[in-house]
Amino acid sequence: MPEGHTIHRLAADHRERFGGRPVRVSSPQGKFADSAALLDGSVLETTEAHGKHLFLGFPGEEWIHIHLGLFGKVAFGDAPAPPPTDTVRLRLVNPEGYVDLRGPTTCALVTDAEKRAIHDRLGPDPLRAADDPDKAWRRISKSRTTIAALLMDQKVIAGVGNVYRAEVLFRHGIDPYRTGKDLARREWDAIWSDLAALMREGVRLNRIDTVRPEHTPEAMGRPPRVDDHGGEVYVYRRTHQPCLVCGDEIRTAGLAARNLFWCPGCQTR
Ligand SMILES: [Zn+2]
Repeated sequence: MPEGHTIHRLAADHRERFGGRPVRVSSPQGKFADSAALLDGSVLETTEAHGKHLFLGFPGEEWIHIHLGLFGKVAFGDAPAPPPTDTVRLRLVNPEGYVDLRGPTTCALVTDAEKRAIHDRLGPDPLRAADDPDKAWRRISKSRTTIAALLMDQKVIAGVGNVYRAEVLFRHGIDPYRTGKDLARREWDAIWSDLAALMREGVRLNRIDTVRPEHTPEAMGRPPRVDDHGGEVYVYRRTHQPCLVCGDEIRTAGLAARNLFWCPGCQTR
């Protein structure tokens, strides 16, 4: 499942390639065909992301709401667009290029009010400048749930996935099994601002890097990480490997339906 930085990046890429101009809209697979016909030839006015939700804005406050889920894929290409395969749910085309969406959990035409309702169900997103970390804190500070599970709950905070939750808890030395209630306000503020900075870098580089300058391969004289996920990290998918900071063995356990990774030596707070 992509994390929020990927969706914000997709919003920016859609805006850059298709924004402000008319687009051809189609659904070769057929499931979105009626809505595509309504939008075909209109101007893509704006794009927006909130957590793992992508919104493409058209005139009349109509939005295409996209959630990739586990299997959704987006592929951009230059003109001429090849004939679409019948797995393409949504295709946008302009004279310069095209973008294909395949296998999303959601691809639906929604009104502004329906879009608002989606935002209201989601927690604040560290990548949305106007979002308020207090809204998340109000839930976290009352919760007996572990901070590791709370960070994955999109109603509490939107856009954080399995990599960022593990890495941000490591960076702050926080035991992932601490409850929300036991977290101090200053710890939450530090987590939020760190997530915002890490995720902005994620949007810029299109990958997740979380190690501090002193722990890069160059600084430590170690080989770069080999992982199809890419990026340099402290704990994510480093089970049984030595911690880059204290040398303890990185551990893993299931938490909130996903594998959690942490260092028992460093994460004692
Ligand atoms: Zn450690």
